[in-house]
Amino acid sequence: MNIHEYQAKAIFKEYGIPVPKGFLARSALEAFELACELERGGAKKFVVKAQVHAGGRGKAGGIKICASLDEVERAAGEMLGKKLVSHQTGAGGKPVKSVLVDEATDIAKEFYVGFAIDRSNYAPALIASKEGGVEIEEVAKRAPEKVLTFLLSPHSEVDGFIVRRILSAFGLERAQTQKLTDILQSLYRIFKSKECTLAEINPLALTSDGNLLAIDAKLNFDDNALFRHPELRVLRDPDQDDSLEVLARRYGVDYVRMDGLIGCMVNGAGLAMATMDLVDGVGLRPANFLDIKGGAQKESVVNAFKLLSQDPKVKVVLINIFGGIVRCDMVAQGLVDALGEVDVKAPMVVRLVGTNENDGRKILEGSGRKFFVVKTLADAKSAVQKALNK
Ligand code: GDP
Ligand code: MN
Repeated sequence: MNIHEYQAKAIFKEYGIPVPKGFLARSALEAFELACELERGGAKKFVVKAQVHAGGRGKAGGIKICASLDEVERAAGEMLGKKLVSHQTGAGGKPVKSVLVDEATDIAKEFYVGFAIDRSNYAPALIASKEGGVEIEEVAKRAPEKVLTFLLSPHSEVDGFIVRRILSAFGLERAQTQKLTDILQSLYRIFKSKECTLAEINPLALTSDGNLLAIDAKLNFDDNALFRHPELRVLRDPDQDDSLEVLARRYGVDYVRMDGLIGCMVNGAGLAMATMDLVDGVGLRPANFLDIKGGAQKESVVNAFKLLSQDPKVKVVLINIFGGIVRCDMVAQGLVDALGEVDVKAPMVVRLVGTNENDGRKILEGSGRKFFVVKTLADAKSAVQKALNK
């Protein structure tokens, strides 16, 4: 689960990571009022930041540095109520319903620090780069030597050795050691206690007066650990989520939307992933991951059809069912019944194998609906391609 920058900064503050003074505004007038308050506190410049669940806002017009209160009001007015399209949002963009008004910082240098799980090494990793403010993936490609990675134990802190290595890579003075130590240790404490998949400060700024400040804040939480964190669950903003994924969550099916043309409906997570590989293997792209779970009852098939039929990208539906405990004839009946409730326009390729597969196929073929019923994965491949070319 993702949260907004302003929410992540509130958590940073709670854990002692320095962030700029700032407030959240939901209207241009409110942005003006809050900038007034910052001005009374001594701020001379402001930065208005669109709150969306995506990075790359700077280049997309979602970050504006303002020299006056009027400019703040104008910038907020321009961002609010629109969709922001950055290279991380997808073509549809994300709605801007609030902006963060921060006191602007005089930045001397921008760094990157972040914690993530290194899956191939089974360990949390601290990633740091003296090139901040740009995407770390891009730095890693262009200049991998500028990205430092340290594997950590989940049971210990960021130690002095690591801090000194980063300090010297950043070209910071010894006087900054304590500040950097505190920031890294606090960020790691957040990462562990909130069960994050990512905790990132980009940029971490060295200010012109020698302070370190988190200009941006990004926290990503492990969905599977959220049941332990009621304090995080309330931070969810469904406006920022894909609407079909929100619906799928409500239905209780595992669904991840992707950008291809082949809508996949499968029973079992492993088979669902294998099916996506199959689609990918013939040069096509899946439109989604969808696991209707082992039982494949009519209700879950109906819900799955509702999801697939509402995705305008889906050109072919590939249904791949393995009848182990579940019987294929029951699944086939579920498919036919579900189609009585949901209108699916895209052609459907169905592979049914396992218990009672012949009965299942008979039910599909006798249903009066147009299914492309196949037996093997190879046949499924060619049927999908054929259906797509029609
Ligand atoms: P992102 O583009 O979505 O990652 O948004 P950020 O909050 O990281 O801001 C993008 C860039 O805007 C930063 O890397 C900075 O270069 C610049 N920026 C943001 N806030 C300030 C500020 O207070 N002062 C200055 N000088 N630049 C800022
Ligand atoms: Mn950033």
